[in-house]
Amino acid sequence: MADYIDLHGAEQSFGDTEAQREVRKNDRDYVFHSWSAQAKIDPLPIAKGEGVRFWDYDGNEFLDFSSQLVNLNLGHQHPGLVKAIQDQAGRLATIQPAMANDVRGELAKRIVEHSFEGARSVFFTNGGADANEYAVRMARHHTGRQKVLARYRSYHGSTATAITLTGEPRRWANGTLDAGVVHFQGPFLYRSAFYAETPEQETERALAHLRATIELEGASTIAAIILESVTGTNGILVPPPGYLAGVRELCDEFGILLICDEVMAGFGRTGEWFAFQAFEVRPDLVTFAKGVNSGYVPLGGVVISEAIHDTFAERPFPGGLTYSGHPLGAAAGVATFDIFEEEGILQRVKDLGSRIVEPRLREMAEKHPSVGEVRGTGLFWAIELVRDRATREPLIPFNAAGEAAAPFNAVVAACKQAGLWPFAAGNRLQIAPPLIISEEDLVRGLDIIDAALDVADGYA
Ligand code: PLP
Repeated sequence: MADYIDLHGAEQSFGDTEAQREVRKNDRDYVFHSWSAQAKIDPLPIAKGEGVRFWDYDGNEFLDFSSQLVNLNLGHQHPGLVKAIQDQAGRLATIQPAMANDVRGELAKRIVEHSFEGARSVFFTNGGADANEYAVRMARHHTGRQKVLARYRSYHGSTATAITLTGEPRRWANGTLDAGVVHFQGPFLYRSAFYAETPEQETERALAHLRATIELEGASTIAAIILESVTGTNGILVPPPGYLAGVRELCDEFGILLICDEVMAGFGRTGEWFAFQAFEVRPDLVTFAKGVNSGYVPLGGVVISEAIHDTFAERPFPGGLTYSGHPLGAAAGVATFDIFEEEGILQRVKDLGSRIVEPRLREMAEKHPSVGEVRGTGLFWAIELVRDRATREPLIPFNAAGEAAAPFNAVVAACKQAGLWPFAAGNRLQIAPPLIISEEDLVRGLDIIDAALDVADGYA
């Protein structure tokens, strides 16, 4: 019996090394991969996925604790998503953005209704980077100002403005592609830039630093502040109490717009539709992608406030994309809302996060000398690995590569060896499984991480 049907409809079996060889060969011969030295990588050929698992051609099974790139919120091959895409493809596979389309309109309506008070409309993009690109463009046209403040320890995407907004090494080799971007420090108590010892101090000092940045840059030149509501790839940084509300107050005081990047944190990852909803803050623009339809079809967008929408009521918005609001992506987005409601996803995430993940990670932090800190919310957590708890020296240096990264790579390898695909970032094991994960699988994955931390302990 076949294990899966390949792209060409042919039955294939695991361990069919010819099929695997063909995938690997075409990939190595013709595919140019993101963020990689092409000769130094050997991507794992994947044969199939289902729910929280995927398999390579040899039948090796992986429990996905990374939801691919933290997009696969409803897991692989969710029947509701697959059916919505199939039905839409049979009905109308594509239509250009200047025409109206039922699923596009319905998805926009549901996003507006579930985002923030005063939200008015949605501009659809192809993914997260271009969502940020367009949010910044809207902010500039709306305010007539040019600068945008963005934080260090952030990732906002890889297009020109988005990579310049990014506050970590992925920007370095790309230089400054958008001259209007200025970076500032956000709160991160464990490695406080402000020598703070309590969350209250961190909030107060981070806000004072932001105020000083605004004053020194010139408030009248600043269109927007962009931030990840809960920072994702750079360490699952949950804002301390009062921080986001304080940023909003500064924005109001100086006439600056607030853009919340919810590309990774949005659509249930933290147990809210959007992560900012757990805090006292109202953004002006919200960007999203990934979880809006679990990445089954590329789709992102910008939720736009009434005031910004009105700026473009009589004067044309100068921008657009051929695939803006693509019907296949939009149909999967509408299905995502239905599935979240039918399966009670948000409640599940909160429950699993607080009842299973948090206590277990706190236990690991007690037990393993290599764990400096655990932090997170919902199904979005980080384990910060250190060599020395007292000095907080990271397990590997910042942006380490090659030999310097060996201790961390050994921990990641131990996870993979045991059948877990982790979300590895910097010197952190991060935890972001599909939101549909069963309690049993969640515990199984945490068991594997617990065991892999023994490897990290060897370096501590
Ligand atoms: N913003 C955040 C917070 C992200 O995590 C990402 C991707 O990981 C992006 C933006 C960029 O999204 P995309 O890769 O869809 O362009």
